[in-house]
Amino acid sequence: MKKLDIELRYLKGVGETRAKALAKLGLYRLGDLLRFFPRSYEDRTRFVPIREAPLEEPVCIRAMVADPPTLSTLPGGRRLVRFRAVDDSGGVLISFFNAPYVRDQLRQGETYAFYGRMGGYADARNMTNPEFEPEATLGDKTGRILPRYPLSAGLSNRMLMRYVRQALDQAGDALPDALPESVRTEQELCQARFAYENIHFPADFGALELARRRLVFEELFTLACALGRLRAGRQGEPGIPIQGPDIAGFYEALPFSPTGAQRRAVDQALLDMASDRPMSRLVQGDVGSGKTAVAAACAWAVCKAGFQAAFMAPTEILAEQHLVTLRGFLAPQGLRVEKLTGGMKAAEKRAVKEALAAGDVDLVVGTHALLTGDVAFSRLALVITDEQHRFGVRQRGALSAKAQGETPHVLVMSATPIPRTLALMIYGDLDVSVLDELPPGRQKVDTFAVDERYRERLNGFIEKLVGQGRQVFVVCPKVEDEPDAPFGPKLKSAQEHADALQRRFPTLRVGCVHGRMRPREKEAVMSAMAAGELDILVSTTVIEVGVDVPNAALMIVESAERFGLSQLHQLRGRVGRGQHKSWCILMNAARSPEARARLEALCKTGDGFRISEEDLRLRGPGDFFGARQHGLPEMRIADLGADMRVLQSAQDAAAALLERDPELSQAEHAALRAQVESLFQDAAGTIN
Ligand code: ADP
Ligand code: MG
Repeated sequence: MKKLDIELRYLKGVGETRAKALAKLGLYRLGDLLRFFPRSYEDRTRFVPIREAPLEEPVCIRAMVADPPTLSTLPGGRRLVRFRAVDDSGGVLISFFNAPYVRDQLRQGETYAFYGRMGGYADARNMTNPEFEPEATLGDKTGRILPRYPLSAGLSNRMLMRYVRQALDQAGDALPDALPESVRTEQELCQARFAYENIHFPADFGALELARRRLVFEELFTLACALGRLRAGRQGEPGIPIQGPDIAGFYEALPFSPTGAQRRAVDQALLDMASDRPMSRLVQGDVGSGKTAVAAACAWAVCKAGFQAAFMAPTEILAEQHLVTLRGFLAPQGLRVEKLTGGMKAAEKRAVKEALAAGDVDLVVGTHALLTGDVAFSRLALVITDEQHRFGVRQRGALSAKAQGETPHVLVMSATPIPRTLALMIYGDLDVSVLDELPPGRQKVDTFAVDERYRERLNGFIEKLVGQGRQVFVVCPKVEDEPDAPFGPKLKSAQEHADALQRRFPTLRVGCVHGRMRPREKEAVMSAMAAGELDILVSTTVIEVGVDVPNAALMIVESAERFGLSQLHQLRGRVGRGQHKSWCILMNAARSPEARARLEALCKTGDGFRISEEDLRLRGPGDFFGARQHGLPEMRIADLGADMRVLQSAQDAAAALLERDPELSQAEHAALRAQVESLFQDAAGTIN
């Protein structure tokens, strides 16, 4: 094992500079290389006759050098080595640019294996700068399956292959094996040595599949064990029993009467919190189902019982909104609600922190700033996280740890419906309440999918609605990181679109928020929108989660085909929140019937769970989780969507093992335990 701790700069052929490049890929020690899995593989096992090689595709050929390679200098100084090579089927002209030395590596009359892209025409084939090796000793560059690693500047795939090879050789049989032998045999998985060897340098595709299956299982199994331990840890701890006054007192002061679903969720949470075990509950409900009021009710009960509560939102904008809402609910009841976010002035922050520590603040609403080390509570008993999928499991743990010695209750709210297996994994430590009822009087948001031809009518509609005093949201897809697609329709960036709208409507107040702005700037624009100081707000998807502007009656999504259905549904949930009739217009820039059909599905139903099922069916689970919104550690090899079946068996196996050895204290589980413990301590950034 020790060998695997050797730093990479001591490795043959590495040195300081390359060690830095390797560090950029998260590779520091020999052992890291073993788990640096190839991104893809290149099949160089099959050789084709020159004549039959498909054009413009990489192929392996076996060919004899037919004439002596010539070296010449091209105008401009480039050096060219050129010769003809032949096999039984035909010939090919091979050129090497700027590699004069290959002339001496290739001999007329000898046969080599070449790997490269076949260019030219059927009867005039050529190949440029192929990789090659003598036929007699092939098996390094050709005749095998080649791993393709993710690269960073200063590193080539060849180098990584060499380093990984060294790591495998040095490790010998001392490879880390987190999988207990009993589990391995039961699941019919290959041994660690075979798995690591073949995931990097597969003997054949069968071996690669065996290797992959084992490593995927191992990864999911370790994760399941870690989550299982987390859950058991919480359940084993004493809670803080809450004996609040009758919740009817809270309901009376609400501006509306709670729905049956809200009451049920609150009752379940109150029952959890009254027991001597810490609550771990997820409230799942579609956009607009009223999750905030449920959270407020729980906070009310906790604060009235003399404890503190913390409410974490994923963004500053949302923290601000929740502050206003929750204060509105709770301040008239004599409770003090404050905000604590990274964007606040130092003096303000200090004041809130002091009040928190002194127990003068009942409920604090904040962002990640709540997690930083120096925030202390006097008697924290409830942690609420909104849209939890944006918080990591580890962050949830960090906030819980703020209640010195005691384990606070945890209430998690999510509007993202997810498949059951996955919910079990991500929220495996949580009980679930579902808000399956919308507040009464909620109007259906009429949704239309249209294209550019509708633009002028849409502009007229904007004018009319704003004339009636309503506000409008316009969402553009994110374009920052993408080079302009040469073919597809040109995407509008939020800022460009806002400028265009401002020119079109010179008298209207048009604002813009996008991801490149500072939190403070974003917040200022959002607040202006909420306060009715803007008529039109153009944004990227920063407004997706939770922002409440009851006066907004129109949501326009540009290039709607670029969004997932669930995401569009969330966006649509931004309107229709007040008493005004509301609309959602999906601007479709794609011509394909599929894109149309997808958007039509959204026009037909307003049920978020049905939409997410449809989304899942249409896009497949891989895509669904592509955005990595689940808060779990990043998977190195497993695909949480695609490897769903393995996930299930990994979970069952983990549960069975934890049953036998809850602390993973048995000697044969030591490696697993180490792995589990490291999982939630990885460098920041691996958990979103
Ligand atoms: P979400 O579940 O999306 O977080 P919110 O908590 O933001 O939903 O609630 C959406 C809107 O519905 C808010 O304006 C809120 O005041 C209102 N609301 C919540 N519950 C009720 C209810 N029982 N009756 C009427 N309006 C309600
Ligand atoms: Mg919400």
